[in-house]
Amino acid sequence: MSRYVWQLKVCIFIIVYVQENAHFVVVDMVLEMLEAVKWVVCLQQLKNTHPHQDRCEKQNTSKTDSIYSFNRGFEGKIRLSCSKALCHPHVMWFCQRSDNADLLSLKLTALLLINENTHTHTLLSFPQVSVLVMADDRISLTEDIVQKTRMRGTLTWAPPRFQIIFCVQPTHRRSDVIASQHFLCAGCGTKIEPRYMKKLRYCDYLGRYFCDGCHRGLESVIPGRVLNNWDFARYPVCHFSRQLLDSIWQQPLFKLTSVAKNLYSQAKDLQRFRELQEQLVSIKKLLSACRLSAGVLDEFEQLPAHLIQEPHLFSMHDLIRVKKGQLCTIAKALMQSAVTHINICELCQAKGFICEFCHGEEVLFPFQRDTCTRCQDCRACFHISCFRHESCPKCARLQKRNKLQEDINSKATALEIR
Ligand SMILES: [Zn+2]
Ligand SMILES: [Zn+2]
Ligand SMILES: [Zn+2]
Ligand SMILES: [Zn+2]
Repeated sequence: MSRYVWQLKVCIFIIVYVQENAHFVVVDMVLEMLEAVKWVVCLQQLKNTHPHQDRCEKQNTSKTDSIYSFNRGFEGKIRLSCSKALCHPHVMWFCQRSDNADLLSLKLTALLLINENTHTHTLLSFPQVSVLVMADDRISLTEDIVQKTRMRGTLTWAPPRFQIIFCVQPTHRRSDVIASQHFLCAGCGTKIEPRYMKKLRYCDYLGRYFCDGCHRGLESVIPGRVLNNWDFARYPVCHFSRQLLDSIWQQPLFKLTSVAKNLYSQAKDLQRFRELQEQLVSIKKLLSACRLSAGVLDEFEQLPAHLIQEPHLFSMHDLIRVKKGQLCTIAKALMQSAVTHINICELCQAKGFICEFCHGEEVLFPFQRDTCTRCQDCRACFHISCFRHESCPKCARLQKRNKLQEDINSKATALEIR
């Protein structure tokens, strides 16, 4: 009995790992296991009540059930071999097990069929899986179960796969899209009669049509529309897409300089936040070098860490908060308390710059982008109104020092030669 439960656990583990169509296979497997257990219990009861019929029952077993065969083997050990092929329209499992007192092995090979011709659903491979096998509470050995996945779905259909789509799906006629889907639901592969085409529901994220079992009329913000049009409206999506989008909602996956190059120029809110963000990055560097700034630095935790570490990296949640103005409000409040600290902190003041053009008393910092600018060569800070790149005093001083050093070196070399 425990062997069947154990085998069932391993099979369910692997099926859940594979995920696709798992519910079909799990139900099949549970039913078959229950039948097998019932059959063995029944045999055991018969054996107990009619011990002399033992041999006869074994013969009957091999006749009536080709899946299981019991043989009394060498030295009286019972050897059980079980070979089973579970067939399913989309998934075929081959399970083979051999077992004796000191050896237990299980080999499972999952063969999944895939539509190789559908370019939007290409091959998805699964990693190798290792399972610790426990048998009869006495024997334990590790068996690598190698899953060689060759194909998903069928020749005309493959289940949607987990993918992040950055673009807006092109608009095509319903009939053309459904014909390209071979008149199958894109989610479950159910055949749709052409006359019921209008019943299918469109998923704005995947750009495909689904049956009402796979598309329950849910809606979601579509990343492609946000990244391309700064459009936060909710569009109808299938159940699969909704789950996918919910799962990535908080994850910083969108590097705007790579996937939405024009977004900063389109979205003023985003541009404003970007400026504040750059200032905060600069301020945080300054505060990190000050041992008196712990309290102010703690306030930076109000912003997601990636927004300070990677200025162009956003999650969908961040972008919607930018759109609502929430992140700008937090960033401004942070700026305010950081500037208050810097103005009264001697350690921070010592790291500032004096404008070498006007020699004013005001201490300048790189984050003061409205009034200050940096020389691209020497990185010194000056008033925007004072700065002339061609006559940067610090650059001139550095050049003079370098030239002096070169002169000294050349004179020293000349003396050595003499
Ligand atoms: Zn469906
Ligand atoms: Zn400080
Ligand atoms: Zn100045
Ligand atoms: Zn300079």
